[in-house]
Amino acid sequence: MASYREYHRRSVEQAEEFWAEKARLIDWQRPFDQVLDASRKPFAAWFRGGLTNLCHNAVDRHLAQRAQQPALVWESTEVEAERSYSYAELHSEVQRMAAILQRHGVRQGDRVLIYMPMIPEAVFGMLACVRIGAIHSVVFGGFAALSLATRIDDAAPRLILSSDAGSRAGRVVPYKPLLDEAIERCAHKPEKVLMVDRGLHGFQPVPGRDLDYAAERAAVGDAQVPCTWVDSTHPSYILYTSGTTGRPKGVQRDTGGYAVALAMSMQDIYCGRPGGTYFCSSDIGWVVGHSYIVYGPLIHGMTTVLYEGTPVRPDAGILWRLVEKHRAQVMFSSPTAVRVLKKFDAAFMRDRDLSSLDRLFLAGEPLDEPTAAWISDTLRKPVVDNYWQTETGWPILSIAAGVEALPPKPGSPGVAMPGYKVAVLDENTGQPVAPGTKGVLAIEWPLPPGCMQTVWGDDQRFVDTYWSNFPARQVYSTFDWGVADEQGYVTILGRTDDVINVAGHRLGTREIEESISSHAAVAEVAVVGAADSLKGQQAIAFVVPRDASRIADAAGRAGLQAEIMQTVQTQLGAVARPARVLFVSMLPKTRSGKLLRRSIQALCEQRPTGDLTTLEDPAALEQIRSALAEQA
Ligand code: ATP
Ligand code: MG
Repeated sequence: MASYREYHRRSVEQAEEFWAEKARLIDWQRPFDQVLDASRKPFAAWFRGGLTNLCHNAVDRHLAQRAQQPALVWESTEVEAERSYSYAELHSEVQRMAAILQRHGVRQGDRVLIYMPMIPEAVFGMLACVRIGAIHSVVFGGFAALSLATRIDDAAPRLILSSDAGSRAGRVVPYKPLLDEAIERCAHKPEKVLMVDRGLHGFQPVPGRDLDYAAERAAVGDAQVPCTWVDSTHPSYILYTSGTTGRPKGVQRDTGGYAVALAMSMQDIYCGRPGGTYFCSSDIGWVVGHSYIVYGPLIHGMTTVLYEGTPVRPDAGILWRLVEKHRAQVMFSSPTAVRVLKKFDAAFMRDRDLSSLDRLFLAGEPLDEPTAAWISDTLRKPVVDNYWQTETGWPILSIAAGVEALPPKPGSPGVAMPGYKVAVLDENTGQPVAPGTKGVLAIEWPLPPGCMQTVWGDDQRFVDTYWSNFPARQVYSTFDWGVADEQGYVTILGRTDDVINVAGHRLGTREIEESISSHAAVAEVAVVGAADSLKGQQAIAFVVPRDASRIADAAGRAGLQAEIMQTVQTQLGAVARPARVLFVSMLPKTRSGKLLRRSIQALCEQRPTGDLTTLEDPAALEQIRSALAEQA
């Protein structure tokens, strides 16, 4: 086995050679003439001149060997259903969907917006788009009309693929009224809306605009739609970032670079076995779902599990029953999901046969040590953190166990993944800081294959937002705050906007949260900095206790508050000790499970909360509001 250090050195110092080699992991209809086109920095074009197709690489090329192997397995605990599609069946369904799109005027380069629940037709839709060179933009199903409308106007789709309803925790969530309202608000009107009618919630089709999928599918029969070969740099999709920090950005991804990066990651990072099963419990509305429910596992010839449901219904054992049932080899979830499970009895996980499973990967939010240790002990499996962004499409930091199983470092997602020249920079000068010193996590040009090409329709915003943070040098800023050690392990300390300045000391919210999480009574915590006339800023902690009975009376609350403050003081020093510790039963999060610190902070400082369109549950913000009011 190669040493990881040597492998990574080569990936950045001989990047073209390295990636040309990795490019052999996928099929090209015509070879590329240039590995990296550097003529328009900070843009980077990978594999220019090469012709390929994402759908071919995910589906068609496996037909010779895997026609009968399950490609897509759908499990729904929402509507009590399951369906399985072999590679041959997936191939047929995708061609039918592609034929329907073509019949209604969708051509290469046109956008198709996908506003769908987690059902197989959503995956057919994505694959059908890339098959014919159309550009999909998946919007998380159940997003409110306003969030949907801004994305429709930005992507300007010719057609929208949608469904009557989704279902969440057993409750039907009608989509059609939200979609109709969104289109009503939009300046750009799609020509057609293709409706998959699940029979969950009746609706009135709009004549001349709305199409019925079942009827269309019957009409196209066993249509054959060949793959359209597109240039490696042809956009495959647009995906909006989670909007945790402000207005979502339309991340535009290429075709060839993305396929190569995913193929590499399946092998070197996720250690997936072709023919094995990959179960990622994310949603196709997020980047994790794009890369590791749909494209990555299929490109690698694996069986992918598409799960419609929550981690706790019918009980907290459901994810592990699915692992057992489908003999999943790789599992991918989020720290948020694990923190939810932590509130339940570990027996739900222990009584399953997880012998098929090699590793559990977690991404999306900082993974605190207590949560990592709890899940790893409970499953008796290695847990691998991975840090990335919608922008990058695949991990920036992790452990590439397929190359060398470096030991994990608690609290750190790991080391730089291939192709990423990761640097920790002084926020003022832009100069690299020494190991052990905090700074802004940045990536030197070029971003490796698979990373965002630009902001959809706005090259200038790409340059201004990501590449213009340091006057002295052009580097990509992640807007995360971190610290590297001598071995290159990076720890993420929070978002750069979340850094707290207490009496001149710079503290990442993550550091304080990590410390508070180590208290056994704490299930979840959010720390924000609020303006303070004396100290500049002070830290306020919102804590979800594991057992609500501990804070049932004033004495219990005061006792736990004091213990938590003391924990931080002992671990990080008096300066980090939160000025206030308040209790809530849930925290405000985005629909993708990320803490909405900016809104919590706004409430603490009595400012308007700003854009809340990505907020999961407004009741959580109400709790913050009343917790603050009670203490005032
Ligand atoms: P927006 O950019 O619109 O504010 P967002 O940053 O929340 O939204 P994503 O691209 O989904 O949208 O999230 C990426 C961010 O999530 C990272 O920049 C980082 O802050 C956080 N993150 C993801 N994975 C990890 C991880 N393993 N450890 C720590 N933080 C993580
Ligand atoms: Mg972001």
